[in-house]
Amino acid sequence: MPDAPSFRLRNTLTREVEPLVPSQTDADGTPVLRFYSCGPTVYSYAHVGNFRTFLTADLVVRTGRALGWRVDYVSNVTDVGHLTEDDVADGGGEDKMARALASKEGEAFANVWDLARHYTDALLSDWRSLGLIEPNVRPRATEHVREQIRAVEGLMERGHAYETEDGVYFHVPSFPDYGKLSGNSDAERLAAGAAGASREVVQDESKRDPRDFALWKKDPGHLMQWFSPFGWGFPGWHLECSVMAQKYLGETIDLHGGGEDLTFPHHECEIAQAEALTGEPFARMWIHTRFLQVEGEKMSKSKGNFLTVRDLTATPEEGGREDWGAPVDPLALRLLLISGQYGKPFNLTKKALADAAKNRQRYAEALEAVREAGESGPAGDPEITEGLRETLDDAYADALDGMADDLNTPVALAAALRGANTILSVARQPDGLSAPAAQAAMEYLQRVDDLLGIVGLAADGADEDDSADPLAEEIDALLAARQQAREDKDWARADALRDEIDALGIVVMDTPSGPTWRRK
Ligand code: AMP
Ligand code: ZN
Repeated sequence: MPDAPSFRLRNTLTREVEPLVPSQTDADGTPVLRFYSCGPTVYSYAHVGNFRTFLTADLVVRTGRALGWRVDYVSNVTDVGHLTEDDVADGGGEDKMARALASKEGEAFANVWDLARHYTDALLSDWRSLGLIEPNVRPRATEHVREQIRAVEGLMERGHAYETEDGVYFHVPSFPDYGKLSGNSDAERLAAGAAGASREVVQDESKRDPRDFALWKKDPGHLMQWFSPFGWGFPGWHLECSVMAQKYLGETIDLHGGGEDLTFPHHECEIAQAEALTGEPFARMWIHTRFLQVEGEKMSKSKGNFLTVRDLTATPEEGGREDWGAPVDPLALRLLLISGQYGKPFNLTKKALADAAKNRQRYAEALEAVREAGESGPAGDPEITEGLRETLDDAYADALDGMADDLNTPVALAAALRGANTILSVARQPDGLSAPAAQAAMEYLQRVDDLLGIVGLAADGADEDDSADPLAEEIDALLAARQQAREDKDWARADALRDEIDALGIVVMDTPSGPTWRRK
């Protein structure tokens, strides 16, 4: 066995590619990586760009685990507080959840909580269909308001925050390191708005500095509100992530990630909040995923190039996009979305999707050939088996080296495919795959699936689990009744059934072909 490669990532804080070193070990001496990745705002279906970023996190976790680490992985769900103007740092505009409820699509929901639940379920379903690893904890902002209020109080006590008539603000000049992640510290530039927006969006003229950002918004008319020592209202978007990261992973975490747009202001503000509160470094490394474009353009609904996962994976009858070849195999979409290195811009095209589908087919064929050869085949020529095993070990080692090298997925995927092609070429020889060769091939496919998630073995296992559940019939009946209640717009009954399903420890996922479920 070759030595495990060192895992290197480009750290946004230093702008250098550096070794990622877990700072703790567990009782057995296993390195423990503490990793937080910003999750979606559940006001709509997540799009393929969002999933490119979630997949970067997924690949970090898989690579860490392939290196023998324990990875404690937390990714949140933002279900309150993310405002339409949050990219200009002082939290102006409308809450995205409330705006979604007021839109045409929002008419299908009883209230904002129902909307959040629907899009969270849809997210989990897409997450699972693309084979993403479930985080160890997936905290929701609405379930951590108490902790966020405590953080605001702590920041006020330490002189980093102050109250106005409209809310509580973090006072940026009280934290001299502000700007260390993004380079944006200059007051004039910020006063013009990071996204070029003007200061029209300043909501509160009594802010002491234009850079100050909201920790708490007072709003007794808001659809989602909590009581706090500073009045009824809701927490600022930046606060949830630093508070939940520290709650589940500790004061200093090893790695924090998200899409490139989050560098500023979201992550800059997270650093300020967390470090002002504890006096300790918040995240030792930061990783940001460059944006995905579609056919060379920014995704937008008006251009018709805005693609959700279900647009591509559902059948045309269920709303899939025929012009994009729907239904596309979800693992082909996954393969496509990870085919470019996360740090480089990525252009999703129809041609690239077709190529990914072809490559994905090679894994399906290799798996089929291995299963057909089975365990009871002939013993075969030991030299051929040994040769195959060596080739596959090399291919896997190259794939892991590629991943450890700043998640160089093009290199890793090429190596992994080389192995699958070798399996197919042995299988297609007159003697085919012997039983020991099939076993070596299966081990390879399993390792590649663990590292890259493109073979489909994990999905097979998950399906079997559900049908074997002793409560399967009862759960299916509850789901059908809930579906009926939703169709009848009997929200109270749908909610009651939902609670019953929850109490059984079940997560419901609304898929294009109807709801399915799994154990939490
Ligand atoms: P949101 O639901 O808007 O909070 O976004 C969820 C995640 O997706 C964040 O980490 C964003 O930075 C990321 N993201 C948004 N648009 C894109 C895109 N086009 N390509 C890659 N990542 C994106
Ligand atoms: Zn976040």
